[in-house]
Amino acid sequence: MRQQTMNNPTNFFKSIRFRIALVFVLLMIIALELLGAFFVRQIEHQNLATFQQQITLPKYITDQITTALKNKDSNEGNHEIQDILSNLSNTNLQEVQVIDRTGTIRGTLSVSGQQTIGQKTTDLNAQKAISGEQSFLKTRTIKENGDSKELLITILGNNNSRVKDISGVLIVKASLAPVYKNIESVMQLFIVAGLIALIASIGLALFLARTLTKPIEQIDEQTTKIANGDYSKVNHIYGSDELGHLARSVNELSTRVEESTETVNAERNRLDSVLTHMADGVLAANRRGEVTIINQAAADFVGINREDAIGQNVIELLHLKGQRTLRDMLENLDDFRVDLSDDSKDLLVQAYVSLIKRQSGFISGLVVVLHDITEQQRIDSERRMFVSNVSHELRTPLTSVRSYVDALAEGDIDDKEMAQNFLGVVQDETQRMIRMINDLLELSRMDQGTMAVKLEVVNLNSLFDFVLNRFDMIIENDAKNRETPTKTYNIQREFSSEDIWVEVDPDKFTQVLDNIMNNAVKYSPDGGTITARLIKTKTRAILSISDQGLGIPRKDLNNIFNRFFRVDKSRSRAQGGTGLGLAISKEVVEKFNGRIWVDSVENQGSTFYISLAYVDDAEIEEEDWGAE
Ligand code: ADP
Repeated sequence: MRQQTMNNPTNFFKSIRFRIALVFVLLMIIALELLGAFFVRQIEHQNLATFQQQITLPKYITDQITTALKNKDSNEGNHEIQDILSNLSNTNLQEVQVIDRTGTIRGTLSVSGQQTIGQKTTDLNAQKAISGEQSFLKTRTIKENGDSKELLITILGNNNSRVKDISGVLIVKASLAPVYKNIESVMQLFIVAGLIALIASIGLALFLARTLTKPIEQIDEQTTKIANGDYSKVNHIYGSDELGHLARSVNELSTRVEESTETVNAERNRLDSVLTHMADGVLAANRRGEVTIINQAAADFVGINREDAIGQNVIELLHLKGQRTLRDMLENLDDFRVDLSDDSKDLLVQAYVSLIKRQSGFISGLVVVLHDITEQQRIDSERRMFVSNVSHELRTPLTSVRSYVDALAEGDIDDKEMAQNFLGVVQDETQRMIRMINDLLELSRMDQGTMAVKLEVVNLNSLFDFVLNRFDMIIENDAKNRETPTKTYNIQREFSSEDIWVEVDPDKFTQVLDNIMNNAVKYSPDGGTITARLIKTKTRAILSISDQGLGIPRKDLNNIFNRFFRVDKSRSRAQGGTGLGLAISKEVVEKFNGRIWVDSVENQGSTFYISLAYVDDAEIEEEDWGAE
C-alpha cells in the first residue's frame, strides 16, 4: 500500500521527492529574487550615473555661460547665452535654463519658454542654490506629464566655501525614458534567463530528488514485503553512501528475519507434531481461562473438535464446574483427577497444571497435561479385587477346616463316625483349596507368559469325541457303582462328517473341554441332554456344547469369563467350583488364536461356543509327505 505513495498523484505532494524538489526550487527562486533585485538596482544606479554625466554640460560651455552672465549688458548677455544654448547638440536635453544670481531666468532652450526670460524663477532648488544654502538638491528625479525626468542644477561661478562668487545656476532637464527603456530590456532578459534557470532547476531538482528517493522507495518496498512475509526481494546497492549502508543493512535484516522466521516455523512445526502425536492431551489457556491451544488427544478426551474447543472456557471444557475454579488452578498447582466418562466410554484422566510466566513474572496463562489413567485404574482395581477375592475364597474353606479341626480337638475325635465325617469334609475343603491354588498358579503362568504350550495339529473330531467318551464313561460308572446315581444325563453328538484339523495343545484344550462339559453337567437338571456340535464354516471350525440347565442371566453373560465370577456363589461353591475354570478356558483358547463365547436363555439352557482357525487338508497332506 505504501508503495502507491509515489505513484498516486494525490500523495505525490506528500512525498519526500516533492519536498526536496520544492525546497530546491524555493531556494532557487529566493536566490534569483535577491540577485535580480541587486542586479536591477545596480544597473539602474549605474545608468542614472552615466546619464547624469551625459547631461552635465562640459566645463567650457558653463564657463562661456558664466562669462555671458557677467556681461554688463544684460540683453547682450542673454543673446550670448541663447547662442550657446542653441548650439548644444546633446539630444538628451529637454530643457536648459540659465538663471542669474538675482534669480532671473536669462536663457532657456525650450521654444515655448522664451517668454519666461527676464522673469524670476520659481524653482525652489534654484533659489536655494543661489542663496548658497547647503540643502538644495543637485540632482533629482521628477515626474512631469507622466514622464520621469532628471533635473540637474549646476552652480555657475565659484562656489568655494571661502570665496563665494556665484554668477547663477544652470538647470538642466532630461527625460529618463531611454534610461528606463534600457533597464527594462535588461530586466526582460534577466526574467527570461531566470525563468529558463527556474525550469531547468525544477527538472534538475526532480531528477536529484529521484536519485535520492529511489533507494528509499526500494527499501520501503522491501520492508513492506518483509512485513508481509516475502523475503525474496534484495535491494540493489547503489553506492557506499548512507543510503547504500541502509540498503545493505535492510538486506541483512531481511536475511536474518527470514532465517529466524524459518527457525521459529520449524520449531512450531516440531512442537505441533510432538503435540499431535502425543498420547497425552495438552491444552493451553490464557489468563481468562480461554483455550488457545489444544492437541488432538485432549480434544478426543473431551469429545470435541479442536477448532470448536479454541476460545472455550477450560473449566467448562474439563467438566470442572462446581469442583474447581480457574483461580484454584492458578494458585494450587497440585495434579488432580478428572472423570471424563460419558455414555460411550469410561475415561479417567490425571491433570497436571503448570503456569505460563513471562520474564517479568506476569502469569499469562496455564498449560494442562491430561494423562489417561483409565487402564491403570482398571488394572489397579482388578488387582485389588483379585487379592480380595483370593483372600475371601481361601478364607471360607480355611474357616470351615479350622472349625472341624477345632471340633475334633475338643473331643469329637472320640466319636469315630463323626470324626470320619469331619475328616472327610476337611479333605474336600483341602482338595478344593489345592485345586484353586493350582488354577491360580496356572493363571499366573499365563499372565506372565511362562505357560508352556505344545502346539500340534490334531483332529478335532477325534479329540472332542475322546472327551465326550470319558463323560459317557463316568455316567456308566456312576450307574454301575452306585445304586442311585447322583445325576443322569445324556450326551448327543452332532458332528460334521468331514474331519476338522486344528492346531492346539491337546492337553490344554482337553482341559478346556472338560471344564465346559463339567459345567454343563453341573448346571444341568437331572436327565437333561447335553448336545455337542462340531461344524466347519468357510473360515473357522466351530464347536459348541449346549445344556438344558438353568442358564445364565443376560446381564452376566459378559462377566462369565472373569476370574472368580459366579452367577450364584453359594451354589457354585457347594458344587466345588472355584470360579476360575472359564477364566482359564478363555486364556487358553485365546492362546490358540481362538474365541470363546456363550449364549444363554435363563431357565432354558446355555450354549458355549469355541471357534478356531482350521488347518487345510492340503497342508496336512503336505506335512504327512514331508514326515515320510
Ligand atoms: P465354577 O468353578 O464356579 O463353575 P467357572 O469359571 O467354570 O467356575 O464358571 C463360572 C460361573 O459361570 C459358574 O459359577 C456359573 O455360575 C456359571 N456357569 C458356567 N457354566 C454354566 C452353565 N453351563 N450353565 C449355567 N451357568 C454356568
